[in-house]
Order: sequence, then C-alpha cells, then structure tokens
Amino acid sequence: MKIVLVTGGNRGIGLEICRQLDELGHTVILGSRDLQKGKVAAAAFSRNVIVRQLDVTDEDSILRLFEAVKTDFGKLDVLINNAGIGEINEGNKNPVLASAKNFMEANLFGGRQLTKIVIPVLRKAGIVAQRNGAGNISLANVKQVMETNFYGPWRMIQVFVPLLLKSKEGRIINMSSGMGELKSLSGNYPGYSLSKSSLNALTIMFSNELKDKGIKVNAMCPGWVKTDMGGPNATRHVSQGGDTAVWLTTEKVIPTGKFFRDREEISW
Ligand code: NAP
Repeated sequence: MKIVLVTGGNRGIGLEICRQLDELGHTVILGSRDLQKGKVAAAAFSRNVIVRQLDVTDEDSILRLFEAVKTDFGKLDVLINNAGIGEINEGNKNPVLASAKNFMEANLFGGRQLTKIVIPVLRKAGIVAQRNGAGNISLANVKQVMETNFYGPWRMIQVFVPLLLKSKEGRIINMSSGMGELKSLSGNYPGYSLSKSSLNALTIMFSNELKDKGIKVNAMCPGWVKTDMGGPNATRHVSQGGDTAVWLTTEKVIPTGKFFRDREEISW
C-alpha cells in the first residue's frame, strides 16, 4: 500500500482521487487550503485519509506539510499535483457587473452556459470589456493563474523530492489539461492554457532530472469533468476524471515523462 499526497483534495477531481485510493486501501494525505472544508469532505472516508492544510501558493504551508509528512511517515510514494484554478478574467467598466461577470467566469466552465448567453450581450453594450485573447489579457491575471497551476506544482516537487526519494519508486502526477496541448493552443483562456503547457514542460524537465533517481514523473488530462471548474455540462463524471491518476499511482510498471488521458499516451 502506498502513501499518496493529493493537492486540492477537498473537492472535484482531487476529492474523487482520494476516495478511489482510500477504497483501494492506500494511505491518503488530503491537502486542503481550508482545513475544515477538507475535514468535511473526508468525513465519509476511512482513517487512512489524513486531512492536512495546504495552499500550494504558500511556501510556509508547503513546508509545514513537508515536516508533518516527514514526521508521520518518513517518506512519500506518490505526489499528485491536482490543485488548480481556471482563467482569471479582466476587470470591467461597471464594478457591480464586473463582479457578477467575474463570479461567473471565475468558475470558468462552471458558469459556462450562463456566461455564453449573458456576456456577449454585456460586451455588445460596452459594459463588459471585449474577450481577452492572448493579445489583450492582463499579465497580472496570467501570473496569478501561473502561481497556482505552474509554480505551485513546481514548489511542491522541489520540497517533496527528498521524501519521494525515500520511496522504492517515487511518482509524481501532474494534473494538466488538453487545453495545454501545444497543437491546440489558441488565444482562448490564454493564462490557463499556458499554465498547463508549462506544467507539461515541467513534467518533461523533472522526468529527465529524476529518471536516474528512480522517480517517475508524468502529466495527465482528466477530460472535461463535471466539477465546479468543469461545470454541469461537462461530459465526464469525476470517477472517469480521477481514473488515470489512480492508475498512474497504482499500476506496477509505468513509464516516465509522458502525457496521458484515459490511461493512453497523448501528444504534448
Ligand atoms: P475544482 O472543482 O475547481 O477544484 C479545484 C481544487 O483545487 C479545489 O480543491 C481547490 O481548493 C484547489 N485549489 C485551488 N487553488 C489552490 C491552492 N492555491 N492551494 C491548494 N489548493 C487549491 O477543479 P477540478 O475540476 O476538480 O480540477 C482539478 C484539476 O484538474 C485542476 O488542476 C484542473 O485544471 C484540472 N482539469 C480539470 C478539468 C475539468 O473539466 N474539470 C479539465 C482539465 C483539467 P478550494 O476549495 O480551497 O478552492
């Protein structure tokens, strides 16, 4: 049985990964920005699921968790970098409407249907700024997405490698997205897409750097999944979204430096 750390484990795909791994009898460290939310989410799980506070943008929070895992287990078998946020959109001309729009779009796909209908009307009326392609988006917003989706996993890897090295075969799984695939990059959701392309590049970099040390590093796309981020129109249930991560955690022999969806390799 393995010791697995899941970031952003309190809801969505992360929570489902924790559930599936718990059912298989693994020890799961469920990272949650808000400890209480994590505890509520994990209420139905076995005692093998340990909830710990973790904000991947907060160095102190990461280091505190590292010390706790080191003390409790002395090693880590698998790190699943699942925590992520969607695109952050531009401010608008009217502050009230801007917060309404931001609320909808902060949930990215979550408010997709509503956004699809309402936003074009507001844009036409000049109340909401024009759509943000890569040419218009505020780089401050891009940096914020990168902070969670790219620098977060990077920090986590830097800090946890010493504990992964104590495992017989440490593994790192980076939760990426098809939106980061190089061949399909466009100006749509530029910050989010870039964060995932960058995460893929980081996967390749670390897979090569850690190959000789016996740590396997892979990225995966869960598909379009019904979560707060994916929204209700998404085509997949969380169980499908979490499946490849659980497979990469538990499969006896896996490669390193690859990108997967549905347990199959896909192109970068
Ligand atoms: P979600 O339902 O929005 O959940 C996101 C999780 O990440 C939450 O637990 C959230 O915690 C956590 N999180 C956000 N910022 C964090 C931070 N700074 N530190 C720690 N945790 C943080 O999203 P999801 O759909 O499950 O997505 C999970 C992963 O899959 C993401 O990396 C996403 O990009 C990727 N993905 C999702 C889809 C999809 O269709 N759903 C498709 C492709 C890829 P709080 O509750 O505290 O906010």
